[in-house]
Amino acid sequence: MVRVRFAPSPTGPLHIGGVRTALYNYLFARHNGGQMILRIEDTDQTRYVEGAEEYIMNSLEWCGIKFDEGIREGGKYGPYRQSDRKDIYAKYAQMLIDNGSVYMAFDTPEELNELRAAAEKEGKTFIYNFSTRMSLRNSLSISKEEVDELLKNGTPYVLRFKVPENRVLETHDEIRGDITFNTKEMDDKVLMKTDGLPTYHLANIVDDHLMEITHVIRGEEWLPSLPLHILLYEAFGWEHPKFAHLPLILKPSGKGKLSKRDGDQLGFPVFPMQFNNNGEMCKGYREDGYFPEAFINMLALLGWNPGTEQEIFSMDELIKEFTIERVGKSGSRFDPDKTKWFNHQYILKKSAEDVAELFRKDLDARGVDYSKIDVVRICELMKERISFIHEMWDETRFFFETPTHFDEKFKKKSCKEDTAEVLETLITILDKCSDFKPETTESAVKAWIEGNEWGFGKVMSPFRLAVVGEGKGPSVFDMIEVIGKDETLKRIGNLVKELRSC
Ligand code: GLU
Repeated sequence: MVRVRFAPSPTGPLHIGGVRTALYNYLFARHNGGQMILRIEDTDQTRYVEGAEEYIMNSLEWCGIKFDEGIREGGKYGPYRQSDRKDIYAKYAQMLIDNGSVYMAFDTPEELNELRAAAEKEGKTFIYNFSTRMSLRNSLSISKEEVDELLKNGTPYVLRFKVPENRVLETHDEIRGDITFNTKEMDDKVLMKTDGLPTYHLANIVDDHLMEITHVIRGEEWLPSLPLHILLYEAFGWEHPKFAHLPLILKPSGKGKLSKRDGDQLGFPVFPMQFNNNGEMCKGYREDGYFPEAFINMLALLGWNPGTEQEIFSMDELIKEFTIERVGKSGSRFDPDKTKWFNHQYILKKSAEDVAELFRKDLDARGVDYSKIDVVRICELMKERISFIHEMWDETRFFFETPTHFDEKFKKKSCKEDTAEVLETLITILDKCSDFKPETTESAVKAWIEGNEWGFGKVMSPFRLAVVGEGKGPSVFDMIEVIGKDETLKRIGNLVKELRSC
């Protein structure tokens, strides 16, 4: 049974890279008929941000990423928040003490800082490992009696992992293939802090083991921790899960990791939902008007390729197609325009009725009266022109309101000396139409134009100006059907008045 987990730390809003990690875990679990777990890794209390845990869970819910086990879902492997599992870690730390895999280190932060500074002066980096540990103050370098004395006096200590001196670790990553590490480059990482709380490494390994995680799929920033994790599994005598380290999401320039600053500079969010991070506002895709389906579709393709030309995938299709083998090794460049394109595609996919339902909410919020207007028809005519529902109002305003002024440039271009006269005849022609279906009005107007052997622009351009107030919009005959005969004639009359007055 495949069991995967998404294990965020509640240190702020969830970056879209994190959302993508959650998504790939979810797709992998569902594709393989497995389970998906949400575990909150909050052992580092100094980085804890109020509201971040809720935010993470709400964001993933908005994205449609579902969990089988977690804080909200429950499950038999809980608790699912690491701060609620302290006793468990204490027990496993004891196991490592008993089998000699860790040692107690009594060095104070000041002492270590001094050593770091001294090394730096010589252009070196201080590293706590086999080469230095015997000259430092820990349970390996001092006698048992001295250790007992320090403990009796309540001297604070950390537990450090005793990394073997010179071992070649060969391991495998599902994305990167075989990887080799030499332990001589590693430091004796702290596993338990002076406050008795575990660090990420210990808690993460204990939990992945106890929660029976089969595949660890996470960001590549964790690749340097992999040798330590492998050694930890070994120290416990446990088999380790399979690992897959996902490449980064890169800046639009392709240089370096996509950051909040890139988003702020170029005007796009890097978080799924808005978050107020201690007064710093973080923009969200939800608030920017993205559909979660479009956002997820975009993210899925940022690192995974289906091996075909297909770009639009529903969550079910992604689940069906997703395999780790098709996740690329190198970073994927984030493309803000392509992201908008995805939302546009999802607008196109929606029926006019569905777009209308969303647009009505926007109209309600703007206090627009649409009781006498066919909003569905407007959406049918206009949805291909927008990428977001909130763009609809600007594009369609003229359907709801009589234009109060006429675009000067377009007026100059489209209106000639005889235009007022031509429009007056147009009014009589339209007035005679038995109905206002586009076929009816179009054939009446065209017959008249052709009979006069005029070019179409002579009538159609000022006609459009009268109806819209400028040179944009769909077919004039489609528009006037929506606004109706009375309003159409009124608008043409308004332009005639304007032309006659100057
Ligand atoms: N808590 C880690 C994070 O915030 C989890 C890393 C992992 O998945 O092992 O990314």
